[in-house]
Amino acid sequence: MISLHNLAEFDWQTHLKQAVTRLDTLLEAVELTANDVDISEEAARSFALKVPLTYLARIKKGDPNDPLLLQVLPQKAEMESFPGYSHDPLAEMVSNPAPGLIHKYQGRVLFIVSGACAINCRYCFRRHFPYEDQQLSGDQWQQVLTYLRNDPSISEVIFSGGDPLATSDNRLDRMISDLEAIPHLERLRIHTRLPVVIPQRVTDQLAQRLAQSRFKTVCVLHINHPNEIDDAVGQATLKLRDARVTVLNQAVLLKNINDNAAILHQLSLRLFDYAILPYYLFLLDKVEGAAHFDIDDEAAASLVRQLQATLPGYLVPRLAREVPGKPSKTWIAFS
Ligand code: SF4
Repeated sequence: MISLHNLAEFDWQTHLKQAVTRLDTLLEAVELTANDVDISEEAARSFALKVPLTYLARIKKGDPNDPLLLQVLPQKAEMESFPGYSHDPLAEMVSNPAPGLIHKYQGRVLFIVSGACAINCRYCFRRHFPYEDQQLSGDQWQQVLTYLRNDPSISEVIFSGGDPLATSDNRLDRMISDLEAIPHLERLRIHTRLPVVIPQRVTDQLAQRLAQSRFKTVCVLHINHPNEIDDAVGQATLKLRDARVTVLNQAVLLKNINDNAAILHQLSLRLFDYAILPYYLFLLDKVEGAAHFDIDDEAAASLVRQLQATLPGYLVPRLAREVPGKPSKTWIAFS
């Protein structure tokens, strides 16, 4: 039987190692049986189950519909195929000029710092991404730096993954130093779910390094439901804010998890409690295995209209989707 007590005493690496990876352990911890949920061992083999205890502790016991549980539970529906769903829905592999580097948008490059994640989210558009081909040697990192040096139109580097904060503070420090030596780079953006899943990840060393950087730094968190934000997550976020980091949130609109105006309203307010601004609300990327999370455009637009009617504009996220080949995110227009 796993213990969910005293979780704050452990560091983030210990939490990573102790993540639950077995379905029976997960079910026991949330006080459910295989009869209560539509689980699939086959789905768990195709995309592994992974839930850290710090996240598991926020799942309501005995509730098969808990919105956090549904984000991590391998279900039979994942094994169904639907037209229009693919392994690489954003066609990222065609914009891959160097190992680990994705250059799709003007002025910005996305760099895959780490293929690892602290949690495996069932709707993830990179659930089939060939991370093992993207692991960098020292020489390949030099190739990436050369690519960046040779293109003065690039002003922003986005650390992505997997989860870029799954890498050590020392490695991040070295990478940031290498990037700071390229004069035309101005901004560093970090796309991460780790401070949400394991808030201990925002170490003093990380916060100090970001505070000292010459870059204007933006951290884009990934939070889909207000129940994901407990006080430990909030304090981790405020530590980033105190390190001069602008903290934004992007959420994915997910059926039976957050496709509800009241929940999205609460999410925006809860984010702002900790100085996080809602940035994007994404429509699902059509990745194979995730069709059961999809919401149609009209229902999504109706939800955002309801948010507009009840929240100040700065708490209403932009409804968007990513369309392969487009020069930016595509905002969904509605009136
Ligand atoms: S990349 Fe993000 S969404 Fe995908 S599994 Fe990792 S944390 Fe979840």
